[in-house]
Amino acid sequence: MTSSEYDLVIIGGGPAGLTAGLYAARARLKTRLVEKLSPGGQVLTTDWVENYPGFPEGVSGFELMDKMRQQAERFDLEITSSEATAVERQGELFRLRHDGEELLSRTIVIATGALPNTLGVPGEAELTGKGVSYCATCDGPFYKESEVAVIGGGDTAAEEALFLTRFASQVHLCHRRDELRATGVLRERLKAEPKVRIHWSTTVTAIEKGESGQVSGAVLKDLKTGRTSRLPVQGVFLFVGTKPVTEFLKGFVELDSQGFVKTDPELATSQAGVWAAGDVRSKTLRQISTAVGDGAVAAYQAERYIENKFHVPRK
Ligand code: NAP
Repeated sequence: MTSSEYDLVIIGGGPAGLTAGLYAARARLKTRLVEKLSPGGQVLTTDWVENYPGFPEGVSGFELMDKMRQQAERFDLEITSSEATAVERQGELFRLRHDGEELLSRTIVIATGALPNTLGVPGEAELTGKGVSYCATCDGPFYKESEVAVIGGGDTAAEEALFLTRFASQVHLCHRRDELRATGVLRERLKAEPKVRIHWSTTVTAIEKGESGQVSGAVLKDLKTGRTSRLPVQGVFLFVGTKPVTEFLKGFVELDSQGFVKTDPELATSQAGVWAAGDVRSKTLRQISTAVGDGAVAAYQAERYIENKFHVPRK
């Protein structure tokens, strides 16, 4: 094996990728993790995590991911900040291109996660960073005593709406149906929070720009009556689901209709020697805890595959 040849290359450094890295490094596989930003993934945009076991009071998203990174590095996981742009089979190995460099690896774990969806309404793209945001933890403090709108009805929308009540005077939660998708405890908290007003069966059809060049309002449509109205908000936070980061994998592994990577129960993809873990995978429950479990399974499967295919004995 040459110096740029690995047993395992992990693409993505969220909870799934870092856990795969921890397990592979402890199995003494020569492993490189390639992450386009800093390790941590989408959890870094979460202020407080309450449902990851072992933290009875909860833990900040940043602290949890920093600890996962430290733990993997303690066992010598190599982490590179770089974006994977292509991966292909080359004989018995895989060739991964990332920011100009190439790596060869016996196995690959795809753990690239998912990014927030956009709504595609007028004003959204132009005003992103000028009042339109996809991260309350990042931008919430700019909205002290302001009115803001949150669009979506899932766990992310609910958590972020609650987080925004620390700053905003009023949080308008606009959801396209008349029941929330978010989990029970979040639904209870939203209903009990006086600063949150829920607009049921409502979508946003446009985001308006004020004279300052920043967001000055949102146009709402009541889906039951068809009536439109205007909300004078200074911020619009969009949490309308996620899309997987798999563009560079098209034709390499099989994807489902939404672009998530299809796997078997042991997380093998359609390409032998390649596994997928975490939010990028086609599955029903996307949580930090399920991503961590995926990462462990994927690394274990990679280890077994290397032993069998390359006849590497366990010493
Ligand atoms: P999600 O669960 O897919 O929810 C997306 C929400 O956006 C849904 O309520 C959906 O409405 C709405 N939506 C989608 N497209 C829309 C459109 N075009 N116009 C208006 N509304 C639209 O996404 P998420 O909340 O980002 O969560 C992603 C995953 O991460 C989930 O598995 C979630 O459980 C997990 N997560 C977990 C936690 C936690 O456990 N603490 C925190 C955050 C995220 P409908 O309901 O009508 O489909």
